[in-house]
Amino acid sequence: MNVGLVTLGCTKNQVDSEMILGAFKSQGFNIVNQVEDADIIVVNTCGFIQSAKEEAIDTILEMADYKEIGKCKALIVTGCLAKRYKSQIIESMPEVDLVIGVDEYENISEILSNFFNQKKLLNQYKFTQKLDFNNRVISSTYPLAYIRISDGCDNRCSYCAIPLIRGKFKSRKMEDILQEVEGLAKQGIKEFCIISQDTSKYGLDIYGELKLAELLKKMSQINGVKWIRILYMYLFETTDELIEEIGKNDKVCKYFDIPIQHLNDRLLKDMNRHDTKQIIFDRIQKIRQIVPEAILRTTCIVGFPGETEKEFEELLDGIKEIKFDRLGAFTYSREEDTKSYDFENQIDEDIKEKRLKKLFDVQKEISLEKNKQRLGKEYEVIIEDISEDEQYFVCRSMLEAPDVDGRIYVKIDEDSASKAIVGEYSLVKIIDYNEYDLFAQII
Ligand code: SF4
Repeated sequence: MNVGLVTLGCTKNQVDSEMILGAFKSQGFNIVNQVEDADIIVVNTCGFIQSAKEEAIDTILEMADYKEIGKCKALIVTGCLAKRYKSQIIESMPEVDLVIGVDEYENISEILSNFFNQKKLLNQYKFTQKLDFNNRVISSTYPLAYIRISDGCDNRCSYCAIPLIRGKFKSRKMEDILQEVEGLAKQGIKEFCIISQDTSKYGLDIYGELKLAELLKKMSQINGVKWIRILYMYLFETTDELIEEIGKNDKVCKYFDIPIQHLNDRLLKDMNRHDTKQIIFDRIQKIRQIVPEAILRTTCIVGFPGETEKEFEELLDGIKEIKFDRLGAFTYSREEDTKSYDFENQIDEDIKEKRLKKLFDVQKEISLEKNKQRLGKEYEVIIEDISEDEQYFVCRSMLEAPDVDGRIYVKIDEDSASKAIVGEYSLVKIIDYNEYDLFAQII
């Protein structure tokens, strides 16, 4: 039987998708990239905010069409939406044959065995494979893997549904993570992106102390590991020890992904963030002092309940002062069952949109200035792909994170084509820029 999987949402979900595919593959199923060829389609959903839920529902309905126009005999919905709205999916979407929430993954083999037998898709069938970090079908087309070091979150930000979906913060044992990295490095993976809901808290729950710096040190000693990047750090847990390890360890990208969400103390408190404006400014100063070449990326929320024009201006002023290299921003999404759902003074959507645009306009200027500073500099890049118009090699250095950041484009000509190979590394020099991307030539 052929299995096709569509993964939605964040990279944490992508890791689950890769483990689900790994389990099917070990069980003898054939993994296919085209859903029209699949007998079983799995949609691994996100249920974080309204737009993600809508995308998940649209995708499920689109995949259900393959029961008519393709070979699909079973449509399985997994992931965060499946956990958060299991009964609603079962009731309102008869096209879906099986719903497995993230909290049921431990029992996935029994659930699938029962399903295949009851549905008579397979007779007296036993699905024995469990989800296993050491058994993933890596979906990246070049040598990159995401490493999930913990799951769940204890921070309880008042707007966030993640703790309701993924539960309490749970670190994985360090030896298990290192074993996974070693196995992937042996398979030829070179770039490792460390992810979780709160990477900087790693270790506190199981070792009684923050252990990310030690994990970096040990990961970097594994043969074959070339680049290590940390995503989703919380500033109040970004200790001097961690910053120093990032600064001095050649294999660790000088890249700080530090979502701040806002810069007004009243709003940060209402959001139940543990950072204050002072902590944010102090930690950033420390990062820049210890790692002067650091790239800083953040995310912000505009239009949180009660955000006044003055408080929004305070955010804008802070962004102009800090000058993050990269910034993602979102309008506040009112999520049921979260604390801020019931907050008074919800902000009109059009005001949220105007504030978002204003913030992006400010950031565009900053990003342009930051990219200009990289003119003439030389970088080792991974050649990820060829652009859709087939005019450029699409590349990325240690300073660009996959999926979220701009890229470095190298024009395809006789010279570059003779030197560059997709999936390999090359040296380039930056020759042009805009506010999102850089342009380079191979040296
Ligand atoms: S840190 Fe806050 S926003 Fe991030 S997952 Fe945890 S609760 Fe949600």
